[in-house]
Amino acid sequence: MADGVVYVDMDAFYVSCELLRHPELKGRPVAVSADPRGGQGRGVVLSASYEARRYGLRSALPVSQAWALCPEAAYLRPDFSFYEETSRQVMALLRERSSLARAFSIDEAAYPTGFEGRAQAEREGRAVQAEILERFLLPCSVGIAPNLTLAKMASDRAKPGGVVVVLLEEVPEFLAPLPVRSVPGVGPVTERALLARQVRTIRELTLLSPRELKTLLGSSNPDIVRMARGESTESPWPEEEGPRSVGSMSTFDMDTEDADALSRELRSLATRVAEEVKRRGLRFRTVTLRVRYEDFSQVQRSQTLPRPTDAFDALCRVGEGLLGELLRERRGSPAPLGPAPVLRVPRRIRTLSLTVQGLREVPAGERPLEGFLSGPPVAGEPPDHEA
Ligand SMILES: [Mg+2]
Repeated sequence: MADGVVYVDMDAFYVSCELLRHPELKGRPVAVSADPRGGQGRGVVLSASYEARRYGLRSALPVSQAWALCPEAAYLRPDFSFYEETSRQVMALLRERSSLARAFSIDEAAYPTGFEGRAQAEREGRAVQAEILERFLLPCSVGIAPNLTLAKMASDRAKPGGVVVVLLEEVPEFLAPLPVRSVPGVGPVTERALLARQVRTIRELTLLSPRELKTLLGSSNPDIVRMARGESTESPWPEEEGPRSVGSMSTFDMDTEDADALSRELRSLATRVAEEVKRRGLRFRTVTLRVRYEDFSQVQRSQTLPRPTDAFDALCRVGEGLLGELLRERRGSPAPLGPAPVLRVPRRIRTLSLTVQGLREVPAGERPLEGFLSGPPVAGEPPDHEA
């Protein structure tokens, strides 16, 4: 019995969710995006149906360009709470198959498995795919491989609607022809550096010296080259780490640029985050504020503190500072005299999210005793939000 991982990646997830409510759009080019406003819209495409992809539509494409390529597509506004709810239901189904199933994003999840040969692995892949399709009418692609990284890469090759199985002995030949960009962690910058060195495929990566590799790949998946050489080193299923971040998000009933309303919402997010951090016995160092504007474009700002803290005041102060920065930026320099600019920069905010990273456990010696010293702070005690 071989150890492996089943990786499930939903196909064009936001669009597939919308087709549940708009079956009349099936087979047509469909995009979930900001309002295209007849080609004048700002913001981007978030998800495109495979029919729309034939016209060149894809996620992150400015919606004005999408409109120029395919004005006849159906452009739908996103409904994130519907997608999140659907995602939770699919996740619950995967947990029925394996209690170890884990979500990696709103539309990707995986679970460990054991299988005897290709036929059995393919049966497992087809079965989970069919179950998701029957219960939710949602299409997905499935990759099955000896570890998580490879299973994710296999699911990419299975798009759309396929099942790709990579057995341990097939790993080098599976990886060799893939473009370097398909290595998890290789983004456009690393890709450019690699292409400049004539390194286009994973096979060409394996020809580099360890030193060159380290310089070029940086923090991207270092195991991939060993796997491509047939020396598999990654364990099939990674141990669950503690949380990498704790965060909270809220969507305004009406988009707003009112500084007081934003600040009030920020404080309530900070309250929730600080409570969760304390409950888990953690401290944080980095605070990230993410803002989604009315046109669905997203901006984020982070600040790292000199030392870890779990103080609500510190979180609030940093969050307010980041929000102030973003608001000032959007207002820009004082408006010039004369007619107002034609293009209005979107300033009204739709969602606000506050996240803390760089989490560490509170050292044992500093943990408050349960039900004992946990009353209100003693007067004269040094404040613990100096971080
Ligand atoms: Mg997907």
